[in-house]
Amino acid sequence: MVNKHPDIRKNEYCNVYVEDLTHEGKGVAKIDGYPLFVAGVLPGEKATIQVTKLNKGYGFGRLIELLEKSESRVAPACPIYEECGGCQLQHMSYQGQLLAKEKQVREILQRIGKLDDVPVHPVLGMDNPWRYRNKAQVPIGEREGGLVGGFYKQRTHEIIDMEACLIQMEENDAVLQKLKTVCSEFGLRAYDENTHKGTLRHIMVRSGKVTGHIMVVLITKTSDIPNRKKLVKTIVNAIPGVKSIVHNVNTKRTNVIFGEQTNILWGDEFIYDYIGNIRFAISARSFYQVNPEQTKVLYDKALEYAQLTGQETVIDAYCGIGTISLFLAQKAKKVYGVEIVPEAIEDARRNAELNGIHNVEFAVGEAESVIPKWYKEGVKADVLVVDPPRKGCDETLLKTIIDMKPKKVVYVSCNPATLARDLRILEDDGYKTMEVQPVDMFPHTVHVECVVLMSRVEK
Ligand code: SAH
Repeated sequence: MVNKHPDIRKNEYCNVYVEDLTHEGKGVAKIDGYPLFVAGVLPGEKATIQVTKLNKGYGFGRLIELLEKSESRVAPACPIYEECGGCQLQHMSYQGQLLAKEKQVREILQRIGKLDDVPVHPVLGMDNPWRYRNKAQVPIGEREGGLVGGFYKQRTHEIIDMEACLIQMEENDAVLQKLKTVCSEFGLRAYDENTHKGTLRHIMVRSGKVTGHIMVVLITKTSDIPNRKKLVKTIVNAIPGVKSIVHNVNTKRTNVIFGEQTNILWGDEFIYDYIGNIRFAISARSFYQVNPEQTKVLYDKALEYAQLTGQETVIDAYCGIGTISLFLAQKAKKVYGVEIVPEAIEDARRNAELNGIHNVEFAVGEAESVIPKWYKEGVKADVLVVDPPRKGCDETLLKTIIDMKPKKVVYVSCNPATLARDLRILEDDGYKTMEVQPVDMFPHTVHVECVVLMSRVEK
């Protein structure tokens, strides 16, 4: 149904009541049923807005003045919140964010998945929802007096210098500041994407939350760093706790951060960190969860839903570096993990070895090709876990699950819309959605993760 175009014009001011919040964190106000999306307003608020765009079925507006505030409204803690755009919900209390995410999950499961009576539990949030990220990667630019680094101002390529990011581990902020100073003192020039000249493109810092290990990665356009040895020595002295200094070369005109070539300049190739009692080796290019504390909450729930007794065969589809597989392996007879990125599987095998876990087997490939092959070879899973990317599971994989008939499917999802779509497909062919547990992995942003338990119903 297309909403009728209301009697308003572009640039016009109007007073609206905000009814809802989109999954991007924008407020939804309606004029005669026609929705207008407005950033910075919350459900329950009244505001004067200016209409900025009118499409066929919906439009956009800009907040001019708040007339009535929501009880959930708070002053954003971060001074650069509006310019940055990395967080979208800092103008809402944390409790308000959790309730909004729960509502979002419930409604999308109803709307897309036609799952009306599924229990959706309150979102598991963080006791302290700040300073949680273990990885910072910032673009580098130049101003008079030296290098700056932080973030691109929203919808531009202008680099804003950042001293602190309140969702970033404090250690990472401090290390970034020191690196900017040291690199400036060494006269390193920033890469300029317009002229394709200069040296330093990005700096990445990773910290082990439990171990305190620090890795520094300098990403440059040139394969040499001027004065490299002295620079490295200075960094080592300036940053206590640094375990690894890595150089990555990206010669291309691209906004992809990393290039192909990676060299270790000093220290180890890996830093280590823990999720629960499992130790992970993290290289410059490894995927690793950015909020390990909440990752544990998420995967503990997946493990609880799997209800393992030690006798089960489990498949972990989209296994990445094997985080979930290794969690499950402690309680299962055998775990099979499959993942499309070969380097991630190398990491998964290394992590299994590192933890003395031997009842896991990892394969590189598409989940939708490898799992049917395993099935043909006689692998029969009691529990199947999926943790797909945003686009959800491939349909072939869902069909294989339906044929294979594992007793339980545990679905870990970072996108409630594709989750709802996939649950519906499984519901139509022998599965029932038992419970849904949303977890807040990225406080102050619009993202929400869910773990879902589905059980096979014999007909
Ligand atoms: N559970 C993992 C993360 C999963 S993220 C961990 O904690 O490490 C989703 C993963 O699916 C990514 O690693 C991505 O590379 C992988 N992937 C994407 N498409 C795939 C496919 N068709 N088959 C298998 N893996 C895929």
